[in-house]
Amino acid sequence: MKFNDLKLSDPILRSLKDQNYKKPTPIQAEVIPAVLNNSDIMAAAQTGTGKTAAFVLPILSKLSNPKYKYKGHQLRALIVTPTRELAAQVRESVNTYSKYLSIRSTAVYGGARIHNQRLKLRKGIDVLVATPGRLLDLHNQKSVNLKNIEILVLDEADQMLDMGFIHDIKKIANLLPDRRQNLMFTATFSDSFRSLATNMAEKAIEISVTNDNETGENINHYIHPVDKSRKAELLIELIKTKKWDQALVFTRTKHGSDRLQKQLDKVNINSKAIHGNKTQNNRMKALEAFKNNKIQILVATDVAARGIDIKRMSQVINFDVPTVAKDYVHRIGRTGRGGDMGEAITLVSADEFRLLRDIEKLINNKLERVEIEGFEPEHVVPIKDKPNKKRFHNKKGFKKRNKSRKG
Ligand code: AMP
Repeated sequence: MKFNDLKLSDPILRSLKDQNYKKPTPIQAEVIPAVLNNSDIMAAAQTGTGKTAAFVLPILSKLSNPKYKYKGHQLRALIVTPTRELAAQVRESVNTYSKYLSIRSTAVYGGARIHNQRLKLRKGIDVLVATPGRLLDLHNQKSVNLKNIEILVLDEADQMLDMGFIHDIKKIANLLPDRRQNLMFTATFSDSFRSLATNMAEKAIEISVTNDNETGENINHYIHPVDKSRKAELLIELIKTKKWDQALVFTRTKHGSDRLQKQLDKVNINSKAIHGNKTQNNRMKALEAFKNNKIQILVATDVAARGIDIKRMSQVINFDVPTVAKDYVHRIGRTGRGGDMGEAITLVSADEFRLLRDIEKLINNKLERVEIEGFEPEHVVPIKDKPNKKRFHNKKGFKKRNKSRKG
């Protein structure tokens, strides 16, 4: 399939040519026609699949349809995202693809001055990208008019639910006209996502181009068993011996990412940390510096890194094993994009064995254990679970301990 087959307008096709996109990605090939056809959709697609363009392109095409008579720039499309970074990034995409259109867009999110955002809204815009809290603040201050919204996008809706935004999302939906198109994107079809999506749009078409347990074929991923106390030392050794140009390092906690960043600093490894406690400005600057190759190592928590698109990332390190197995798939999905080979290494200490086991179950694959000389762990990471205590069912269906075990 070609972009030309998708009935997108010429100015949009020109912008895609500028980007050097040759053909639609699988999610784009499915989502674009459905959106142009005015359908409600719920789609499972992870970052890196081209999902942003999948909704931005048809939205722009609809808004710029000559049949629509402009009455100044009226807010007609609202895109809600869980994080500030994602909001800024989606807005950047809107900008890129609307280069040859008379469409105005802006992003509003917490951590940036609300006054400036109010001014931009007052000038009139067509597409608004927003995080839930700031959008509601602006609405409460009567700085944004949501009465003319025709299309609502919930981007990374599962992440919004994980972050506890469900009430905000419901509030926002109640402020919008009932007659609207709903486009809901998620990394995985979780029960909570499905319930939200069907609540929003009963007849939403389900589109899925990825499995939750899918890890790209062009990603080489394995683990280094190591004692917890020596993880930082091992990471530094790897950075030095493997001579990575750049690597994205995931830690579980904000505190952990700061601590690791300081340890890297001490041995003159150029790094920055991004997490929820950093100011918006700080996070953006770190991200820009990383994208422009000005820093070698970006240390991030899952939330801060979610949705961030960093091109040609060849190396991902899980400094901590993620506590939620599907986050492993998200994390390593940062590498091996667009046909390039990527490598994802997870440092696993004995206490993280259960988390590792959950991941291996999810991806249906045992990860290769590669011990590094000089870092062999004192506390061994088991290969398998201890065998389960035998259980059987009695006639009434109750579970009972195996009789051979007393007590
Ligand atoms: P996303 O999944 O939206 O985060 O997009 C991932 C990356 O793919 C972004 O850098 C886009 O610029 C890029 N991209 C989106 N669509 C295409 C396409 N059809 N061909 C090549 N690259 C694309």
